[in-house]
Amino acid sequence: MASTRTVATTVLLVLSLASGGGAQAPSTLDALHARLDKAADSVLPRVVTWRRDLHARPELGNQEVRTSAFLAEQLRSLGYEVRTGVAKTGIVAILKGGKPGPVVALRADMDALPVTEETGLPFASKEHGQYNGREVGLMHACGHDFHMSMLLGAAEVLAGMKADLPGTVKLVFQPAEEGVPGEPGGAEVMVEEGALENPKVDAIFGLHVGITPLEAGSITFRPKGLMAAGDTFRIVVKGRQTHGAMPWAGIDPIVVASQIVLGLQTVVSRQIDLTTAPAVVTVGTIEGGSRHNIVPDQVRMSGTIRTFDAEMRKDILARVRRTAEHIASAAGATAELTLDDGYPVTWNDPALTERMTPSLKRVAAGTFSPNAQPTTTSEDFSFYGQKVPALYFFLGVAPKGADPATWAANHSPRFSPDEAALITGVRALASLAVDFLAGK
Ligand SMILES: [Zn+2]
Ligand SMILES: [Zn+2]
Repeated sequence: MASTRTVATTVLLVLSLASGGGAQAPSTLDALHARLDKAADSVLPRVVTWRRDLHARPELGNQEVRTSAFLAEQLRSLGYEVRTGVAKTGIVAILKGGKPGPVVALRADMDALPVTEETGLPFASKEHGQYNGREVGLMHACGHDFHMSMLLGAAEVLAGMKADLPGTVKLVFQPAEEGVPGEPGGAEVMVEEGALENPKVDAIFGLHVGITPLEAGSITFRPKGLMAAGDTFRIVVKGRQTHGAMPWAGIDPIVVASQIVLGLQTVVSRQIDLTTAPAVVTVGTIEGGSRHNIVPDQVRMSGTIRTFDAEMRKDILARVRRTAEHIASAAGATAELTLDDGYPVTWNDPALTERMTPSLKRVAAGTFSPNAQPTTTSEDFSFYGQKVPALYFFLGVAPKGADPATWAANHSPRFSPDEAALITGVRALASLAVDFLAGK
C-alpha cells in the first residue's frame, strides 16, 4: 500500500513536469508500466472469477441482460460513469483522468453462441435458449467471456490510476458481435447510438482470443486488413412438389440445390484471381423436404462469403447470384438470393498500429508478430474502424504444447481457452490505453 502510493506520487510529479512537452519521458512510462503491471497482477484472481461466472451463464446476442447488469454494477463500483441500454444491452463507461488529454476507447463483446458445451469444465454452461425457433444449448464458445473479464480487469487497473491519466478512457461493452438473424445489433448500432461520441473517441482498441492456435499470451496482428469482410447469403430454391416415385411430375429443388452448392465452389476456385487476395464461399446450411418419398416444393440454403478487397467482394457477390439463378433456371426451377449486410474488412490504421506496436510487444508472452497473416474470420469491430483509427489484435489462448492440428478452436463445443492468457489480455488493454493517453 505504502509503496504503491510512493510510486503514484512520483508518477504524478513526473507527469506534471512532462505535460505540455508532448510524449512522456521513458522513465515516466516505465514507472507507469510498473504500476500498471502490479495492479494487473492484483486484479487477476478476480478476473478469473468473473470469467468463470460469465462462462457459466452465457446469453445470446441482443439478450445479454444479466451479463450487462453485472458489468454495469462492477463498473459503477469502480467509479465509472456508466451509460446502459446502448444498442439494447450495450454499455459505454467513462473514466475521466485527472489531467486533460485525448479519449481512448477499449471494446469487448458480450454475446454467446448457440452451441452445447462439451468441455467438461466444472464451470461449463448448462444454459439453454431459443435460436431460430429451436431449443439450443448456449456457450461462450468464441471466448467473449475472456474479452469481458479482461476488459473489466483493465477497467479496475485504469481506475486505480485515474488521477494520473492524461485523458479519458471509454469502455465499450457491445452486444451481438456474432450477429442475430433478422435483427440489427452489435457494433454498427453502438456506433449509430453514439458510442464513439460525447466525448469523441480518438482511437479504439480491441482483441480476440484464439482464432489462431498460438500458445497462451501470444499477440499477433498486422497493419491494414486483419480480418475479412463477411457477407451472408440466403438462397431459396423453388421447384414443384410431387411424389418421390415420379420426379418427372415435378421439379426437384433438392437436386438443383445440390448443383448450386457445387457450382458456387467454382466461383473462388475457377473464376477469381487468387494471387491478388484470398476469398472464400461456404454454404453452411441446407434444409428441405419432410419425407423420404416426397420431392419438396423448396430448399433453403445459407452461406458466407469472405473477402479482403472491396472490388473483389462486389465481383464475387455478383457471380454467386448469377451462378445460383442460372443453375436453377437450367432445371426449370428458380433461385432467389438475398444478401444480408455483412461486416466490412477489419482495418488496422497503419500509423496507429506502428505507434502501438511497442506497447503490445512489451506485454506479449510467447509469440509476438506485428505482421501476422490476415484471417478469413470477420468482426464487427470493423464498424468502429470505419469511424476512428482502430487497432485489433489476436491473443493466443492455446495451452502450452497443444497440437495446432487438433486443438479445438473458437466456435467448437470443446473450445477451452487457457486462463494463463488472462493476465496478458489485462496488461495489453490497460497498456494500450495508458500509452495512447501518455502520447507514446
Ligand atoms: Zn465468434
Ligand atoms: Zn468472437
